[in-house]
Amino acid sequence: MDPTEKIVSLTKRRGFIYPGSEIYGGVGGIYDYGPLGVLMKNNLKQLWWQWMTLDHEDIVGIDGAIITHPKVWAASGHVKGFVDPLTECKKCHHRFKADDIDGQICPDCGGELTAPKNFNTLVPTELGVIEEEKVKTYLRGEACQTIYLNFKNVVDSTRVKLPFGIVQIGKAFRNEVTFGNFIFRLREFEQWDLQWFTRPEDMAKWYDYWKQARMDWYSSLFNHPENLSFHQHEKLAFYAQKAFDIQYQGREMEGIHWRSDWDLGRHSQFSGQDLTFEGLIPHIVETSGGVDRCFLFLLLDAYAEEGERVILKLHPRIAPVKVAVFPLLANKPDLVAKARDIYRHLKTQLHLSTIWDDRGNIGKRYYAQDEIGTPWCVTVDFQTLEDHTVTIRDRDSASQIRLPAAELDTYFTNRLK
Ligand code: ATP
Repeated sequence: MDPTEKIVSLTKRRGFIYPGSEIYGGVGGIYDYGPLGVLMKNNLKQLWWQWMTLDHEDIVGIDGAIITHPKVWAASGHVKGFVDPLTECKKCHHRFKADDIDGQICPDCGGELTAPKNFNTLVPTELGVIEEEKVKTYLRGEACQTIYLNFKNVVDSTRVKLPFGIVQIGKAFRNEVTFGNFIFRLREFEQWDLQWFTRPEDMAKWYDYWKQARMDWYSSLFNHPENLSFHQHEKLAFYAQKAFDIQYQGREMEGIHWRSDWDLGRHSQFSGQDLTFEGLIPHIVETSGGVDRCFLFLLLDAYAEEGERVILKLHPRIAPVKVAVFPLLANKPDLVAKARDIYRHLKTQLHLSTIWDDRGNIGKRYYAQDEIGTPWCVTVDFQTLEDHTVTIRDRDSASQIRLPAAELDTYFTNRLK
């Protein structure tokens, strides 16, 4: 079975990811996150947010709405696709004006082209309660637009000075022509974006800085950073001097974009508002990544089979569950009571995502935790009742140490740093 198929089956079976609206036969390109998936996704988003806003100075966050004024998408250039029939490559997803292409083969990668169509990947929606008066607008096709819309609000309501960043994690919607590959290409997905506003003369410096900083960040989360690479775009938007993607095994995870003053310039023109700041329209370096894609690639990176064990070797900070607590035997009330105390303490006092398991034998419980990536299992046994020590079993090495139960807080806090 190919690794993605194994991940699809594991994530459904263990409650990470379910096909959207499955009881009605599903909706292509839409997935829901289950109990473990939401924990892992939240961990990931929290790491990103902390890294951006706490580990850097001069970065503030927003949470913009999914529905925007319809003019936003005219200014962004997303609705002009209506004018020219386009053909899309089924392999690399590049689009070409049908008039510019002869033949059926993509000039960029040799893939098969779709028939020419009037493409508009924006997902339309309508606002209003009276049928005849409904206003057509779109669910946002890229999260970054709400950052541009709020640029003036942010500079007017905070004390930022150039250069500075605005970040956002949020949903985006695209009527992708060809969706699929599990959660790689979705019609509803989440993006994490930084828009870094700077003076034009500093663009090259900041572009290189963010390009490397983002790669370093991803490298710190993956077990196999050698699978990460930069892909340089040959064809550039007319306003860009460089364009790179960060890829995992050759598939795009994040784009590092040189957006110059294009976005704020266009919104200034379409809205008639003055979006200058410190005497100019700031230029932008954008880092725009897919949360769902990162999630998928982390699972592929973490998946391992060792003998009978299936293990998700997730970074402990990303793992959905940090600790599982077991009584050695479920039918010994003393063991169960002591283990419940530890379980409750870790969960409610240390606020660690903790699981209780007293089913089957210990070996099976370890395997069940390995498969969901739980880094540590704590077992309460007969020795615990005598000397208050417990065993801690490590997911990756399967080795065990014994520690006083009173030292668990310090142990886990240090390991999670
Ligand atoms: P692709 O070429 O794969 O369609 P893109 O270049 O259109 O991606 P951007 O518009 O730059 O992507 O969006 C930034 C990031 O958002 C991408 O690097 C990717 O991680 C994520 N993303 C874009 N489209 C999708 C999608 N349909 N499903 C899941 N994630 C997506």
